Amino acid sequence: MSERETLTYDGFGKAVREVATVVHRSGFQPDVVLSIARGGLPFGGCLGYALDVKNAFVVNVEFYTGIDTRLEMPVMLPPTPQAVDLAGMKVLIADDVADTGRTLQLVRDFFAEQVAEARTAVIYEKPQSVISCDYVWKRTDRWINFPWSTLPPVTQEGEKP
Ligand code: 5GP
Repeated sequence: MSERETLTYDGFGKAVREVATVVHRSGFQPDVVLSIARGGLPFGGCLGYALDVKNAFVVNVEFYTGIDTRLEMPVMLPPTPQAVDLAGMKVLIADDVADTGRTLQLVRDFFAEQVAEARTAVIYEKPQSVISCDYVWKRTDRWINFPWSTLPPVTQEGEKP
């Protein structure tokens, strides 16, 4: 078995539709999809379309510095949101993966007092996650290669379109 879990763009499309279907069937109708940047942006954006939710909110959190190397704790990057930004709303928080789960925990706890309800959706959840996400497409304990972050950034001289 490969030591990495690889998600393709096709697999990502399937994940979006399947998770959105489960969210819909659960009866949860979010007022806003909150994506955790950068990894949660593709998933959150596509869930917004699949669930017909037009309100989008983004919080940028930095935690990882490499494969399995982390800062001491996850930190929100500026522009820092205000908890009242989402006051009274039903929020679907979207991220690519709950690994330690500390990023999602930080974001969920930050808004907890203000929002009407917050639920979490991820493509992957790992067994060590400190939070149990409400909507999970797949579980793995391996490092995941996501399609948007597998290739190195483009360089001017690098690629022929
Ligand atoms: P956590 O706070 O749950 O440990 O992870 C926060 C973020 O770290 C994730 O949203 C993701 O961007 C990154 N991360 C954690 N585990 C993985 C992984 O297996 N693969 C990749 N590519 N990123 C990961």
